[in-house]
Amino acid sequence: MEYMNKNIVEIHEALKTGKVSVKNLINESLLKSREVQEKCNAFVSILNDAKEVNITDNLLSGIPYGIKDNYSTKGILTTGSSNTLKDYVPFFNATVIDKLNECGAIGVNKTALDEFGMGGTGLSAHTGYIRNPWDAERMCAGSSSGSAAAVSSGVYPYALGSDTGDSIRKPAAYCGIVGYKPTYGMISRFGLFAYASSLDHCGVLTRCVDDAAIVVDAIKGKDSKDMTSWDSSNINLFKNINNEISNKKLCYIKEICDISFYPNPTDELRKHLSKFNEVIEKVKELGFEVVEESINQNLLNALPAVYDVISYAEATSNLSNLTGIIFGPRGEGNNINEIMKDYRTKGFSSLIKRRFVIGSYVLQKENQEKYFVNAQRVRRLLVNEWKKIFETYSAVILPVSSGPAKYIDKSKNIISEGTKVLEEHLQIGDFGGFPSITIPSGYVDNLPVGINITCDIFNDELVLQIAKKIEGKLGLKNIIAGEVR
Ligand code: GLN
Repeated sequence: MEYMNKNIVEIHEALKTGKVSVKNLINESLLKSREVQEKCNAFVSILNDAKEVNITDNLLSGIPYGIKDNYSTKGILTTGSSNTLKDYVPFFNATVIDKLNECGAIGVNKTALDEFGMGGTGLSAHTGYIRNPWDAERMCAGSSSGSAAAVSSGVYPYALGSDTGDSIRKPAAYCGIVGYKPTYGMISRFGLFAYASSLDHCGVLTRCVDDAAIVVDAIKGKDSKDMTSWDSSNINLFKNINNEISNKKLCYIKEICDISFYPNPTDELRKHLSKFNEVIEKVKELGFEVVEESINQNLLNALPAVYDVISYAEATSNLSNLTGIIFGPRGEGNNINEIMKDYRTKGFSSLIKRRFVIGSYVLQKENQEKYFVNAQRVRRLLVNEWKKIFETYSAVILPVSSGPAKYIDKSKNIISEGTKVLEEHLQIGDFGGFPSITIPSGYVDNLPVGINITCDIFNDELVLQIAKKIEGKLGLKNIIAGEVR
């Protein structure tokens, strides 16, 4: 009997009633980790010496989970999937890890990511390409690629992710699972490798909305080590997840999901957006009012560039601590500058270096006002547009991408023009710190696709309540890779 493909409550029951032991769960999870490593190259390391714990009433006790390798784990290799930290073993835990340890949760592997969370493909980890369990020729998206591949393969019911632009929610969609990023600061970022601090969110990938609620309940909370964290003790995600929500008004944005906005759409895009329309009809059947809204298209089109300027600038600053002097393999050279240069030149992938060049440029004194400060202004305008929407609507519902998982071999991807905003609009959730969740919504060409639901800040209970209702209506939960329903 397999247990790692079940949800948290079911596994907890099985542990409590003695149907399965913690030892068996760890063994099953480690065995599956090795299979998924073979197929998807999803892990930086597999923790073969994961220790058993006593089962308590805590729903997470005794249950294995995955840790994205940008969370510091004391005494355990933590690389951020970068050559610059390929041997780095932290001497402290991220707050999230401490909290999960207190629950009795058992970390069984460190999942691979796009280097330091920068990227949306899963192709820039220092350990090589991360492959999609639905089709190994395709990517998982990124950056929480390994976490998505593992959860969707049934290695465990949940894994940690982080989301700066869409890094939890897009891989979740590409792998047919749930990805939830709560309101900014609801989960402490202490011990998460910083990428772009004003946008970085901790979060989780699961196979059902209930599990996302259970895990975030366990890891949220104010932390004196993260000054952006806040007290959420009045929020009970799992307890309130089935609360009756009626008369809620939702909207979708026509400039993002109406096919007429795309010149020469591919068949895939047509299928994908018509699938989204079918989902909207089902959401209406639940009693939600769903209305088409409009956003200034110029503003929307600015989104990806604004994201790039802000995130690259913040990343350039944050990652300047990687000098190879304090940690990381020592570079060669005759003086400190040469040593740092050698370490950074050899250590970082070209994708990251490009971002640092742009980040440095926009931060230069003479460019700051024109690029960095202006990008922040446009970020504010975009967030205000969404805030305006939230005055009328409880949530925005949108497709996650322009279609299912793309091929790793770029030449095989047929992309229609002008889909950049459709691919990148989830960044708005990070701009505004909005709670945002992706759930599976169906299949295009036998591959999973997802929808995203986003609410105003602090409405985490609501976003999960809406997601749970829609999940129930669509009947798409607890999907394991390869199971087309
Ligand atoms: N694709 C985005 C980027 O490359 C998202 C990354 C993230 O959310 N960590 O920056």
